[in-house]
Amino acid sequence: DAAAVYPAAGRRRWHVLLFPLPYQGHINPMFRLAGVLHGRGFAITVFHTDFNAPDPARHPDYRFVPVPVPDGMSGPAPVAIEDVVAHIDAMGRACEAAFRDRLAAVLEEYSRDAVACLVADTHLLPVFEVATRLALPTLALRTGSAASYACFAAYPMLCEKGYLPVQVQDLQLDMPVNELPPFRVRDLIHIGKDSHDLMCEMAARLVTAVTKLSSGLILNTFDALERRELEGVRRDLAVPVFDIGPLHKFSPVGGSSLLCQDRSRLEWLDAWAPESVLYVSFGSLASMSARDLVETAWGIAGSGVPFLWVVRPGLVHGCASEGSHQQQLPEGFEAATRERGRVVAWAPQEEVLRHRAVGGFWTHSGWNSTTESICEGVPMLCRPYFGDQTGNTRYVEHVWRVGFEVGGDLERGSVEAAIRRLMTDKDGAEMRARAGELKKAAAVCTSGKGGSSCMAIDKLVTHIMSL
Ligand code: UDP
Repeated sequence: DAAAVYPAAGRRRWHVLLFPLPYQGHINPMFRLAGVLHGRGFAITVFHTDFNAPDPARHPDYRFVPVPVPDGMSGPAPVAIEDVVAHIDAMGRACEAAFRDRLAAVLEEYSRDAVACLVADTHLLPVFEVATRLALPTLALRTGSAASYACFAAYPMLCEKGYLPVQVQDLQLDMPVNELPPFRVRDLIHIGKDSHDLMCEMAARLVTAVTKLSSGLILNTFDALERRELEGVRRDLAVPVFDIGPLHKFSPVGGSSLLCQDRSRLEWLDAWAPESVLYVSFGSLASMSARDLVETAWGIAGSGVPFLWVVRPGLVHGCASEGSHQQQLPEGFEAATRERGRVVAWAPQEEVLRHRAVGGFWTHSGWNSTTESICEGVPMLCRPYFGDQTGNTRYVEHVWRVGFEVGGDLERGSVEAAIRRLMTDKDGAEMRARAGELKKAAAVCTSGKGGSSCMAIDKLVTHIMSL
């Protein structure tokens, strides 16, 4: 009984196929998009690798199609940014042949006419190539900001004009990139000189997927945040651009967390005064040295500010990937902060940020974390590690002015001062007020029929039906 095996297929005629890049920050927006499209009546089929595979039991309405990758690719997530970039590239290539077989089988089973399109992460060029060869239209989901897409698209220019690779760190990093304001060289997506070619290739492949092989670009951003950047991307692209973010406001995360979210501390938050607690999390990939963790910990302790801190397994370099937070934190920290702090391995982040007790977020400035914070009016301390995090920090500090960077070497004294500035100073209160305004602006984009993101979703649905 096909309807029993594929419940969605039994009920719905139009299928949308999805293929997320298997990293948490990419999986979440793709599943949120799935929720939006499913809500509009599409049947959802998710292709996924064994690496960071989703749990089908948490999405009973979707069908899941595993795409095996060779042994060795499904091990623990890489740590260094160079390895992440190489892994992303290798992942796409490694699943190409198996994806071709699985996709062909699905198209035959559903009947080709019943499949509207495939939405794939912009990083998965081979997936776009396979679909195109099978005459299936594709849409590209870029899970970062419009500004970060523009940075990738500008890569050849950035190299030609000598901004990249960064040659002389001290002299070059603060140089403004006049062609891509408000970025300085340090804000661009870049990695070490030795791996520069790898990054150029990643940018080129991503832009090829969008400009040559897709029928549209979906961006998890919204008009109130990036109007100018969206205009720029639209000007440069022949395909339509759908600014349908922030997706988490349309569709709750819906069980796409790879780690178990520890909900036990939400009640603990209830006891604190409004906007008094600092939430600290560096996302799913960023990792720090043991020394930085110690300075971070004692800086948090010394600030006297209540806190909820996510110390996920593997946060500290060299600590076993399954190392618990007790193993990673300095001795004496938990005892010293028991009265006003809690540490968890992974949090229900959206709910934490929504909690009235939370008044600040120390983040690595991943795009999901940034938009989740903005949508709850929570100002940020930013400690970017790699990729688009530097550029997101630039926008937080310089454009939206809802936070500031904790730069340089981490020292407990400067950490303490930064936390106090955000949580108790007038300066921080002003950032919080501006974050509150952005929250309202985001709500206008996502509410009612006239909201820009609502209209973009309508347009996306019409576009999918027309493909
Ligand atoms: N997240 C979570 N619990 C945590 C920390 C993060 O659920 O304790 C989620 C967060 O809500 C966000 C995602 O993980 O949706 C992280 O994505 P982001 O783009 O911020 O960073 P990345 O992990 O890709 O570096």
